[in-house]
Order: sequence, then C-alpha cells, then structure tokens
Amino acid sequence: MARYRKSVCKLCRNEGVKLFLKGSRCDAKCTLDRKPYPSGQHGQARKKLSEYALQLREKQKVRRMYGLLEKQFRKYYEKASGMSGVTGTVMFQLMEARFDNVVYRSGLVPSRAQARQLIRHGHFLVNGQKVDIPSYQIKIGDVIMPKDKSKELIKQFSEGSTMPAPRWLDVDRDNCAIRVNAKVEREDVDANLKEALIVEYYSR
Ligand code: SF4
Repeated sequence: MARYRKSVCKLCRNEGVKLFLKGSRCDAKCTLDRKPYPSGQHGQARKKLSEYALQLREKQKVRRMYGLLEKQFRKYYEKASGMSGVTGTVMFQLMEARFDNVVYRSGLVPSRAQARQLIRHGHFLVNGQKVDIPSYQIKIGDVIMPKDKSKELIKQFSEGSTMPAPRWLDVDRDNCAIRVNAKVEREDVDANLKEALIVEYYSR
C-alpha cells in the first residue's frame, strides 16, 4: 500500500496543529514549537484562506491525523453519508473504530503508525483470532489482546506511554488487553475538529 514517506513534522506545520505523528518522540522536541508556520519558501507569508481552502485544510488535517490516504478517507465519507445519523459524526465513529486507531487510543502504543505496523505483523488477536488488517472495524464487546509471544513487546511500548484510555475502552495494562465497552460519541473526539467543513468539502 502507498505510504507517506517524507517528514511527518511538515504535515503538522502545514496544518498548524500538533498531530502527534511520531508518538512518544513528539514530546521532547516538537518541530512545530520551533517553526510554527507552514513549510516551504512562502510558509511565513500571511494568507487569508478562502472558504474552499479552509475546507481543504480541515479535511487534510483529519485525514493525516488518522494516517489515511485520500481514497480511504473519501470512502469513509461516502459510507458515512449513506448511513443514518450526522455524516460528520458517523465518519468519526467509523475511523475511531479502525483496529489501528483502537490500539493507539488504548495508550498501549505511542502512535497510529506504530499500531498499524504491529497489526500488520500479526501481533494482535481480536476475540482470540489473528487479524492483521489495520482498517478492520472493531465492534462493541470485542476484545483485543497481543499474541502470547508478543506480550512482552507490547508491554515495552506501553511502558513509554502515559496516554489515558478513553471512556469507551477498558484497558488492562498488565495483560495489554483492550475491550470496547461503548460506542464512540462526538464528545469523545477532539472538539477542535470541524467535521462540517469536511462534509462541505466533499459535497461541493
Ligand atoms: Fe507533529 Fe511535533 Fe510530533 Fe513533529 S514532533 S510529528 S511537528 S507533533
């Protein structure tokens, strides 16, 4: 699968927010603290953004936060718009239920990129079955655990992480086990994200 291979700090600089794409390495020296302006020759020039540019930037910010390619992100929009409920909220619910996101949100692993790599390498079981698809949709009641021989590896990752688990996850850090106990609500997702702009962007 195609992957973004350039500096991820540039993505944060271009969106003007910390997206914490480097996991625990983000805490020490954040590039955005030193260079709080977009990358590139004209990064420091002040620009008034058009309505379209605001929509585009919000879409890119959320897409990059979840580490998705454009095609994948658009699919979440299309799926959400065909489901009942508020499209923006449903979109967040679908993305939050991704296997890689759930592992990241549990606080056992410092970044979504790291969670994705561990899943692809088959370190996790869902309800006792091996699942190595990062986009797999986790449901309420599902239990995620590392394979026995991967437990020590996941413990090493979790020792460096201080991120608390959200309301909708029960996390047993001793056994590195995660249980989904509730549906994700809009309040569980960063209030600063403006999903209405994303919906406007795609419904142009
Ligand atoms: Fe973003 Fe800062 Fe982490 Fe770089 S160090 S990925 S700029 S949050």
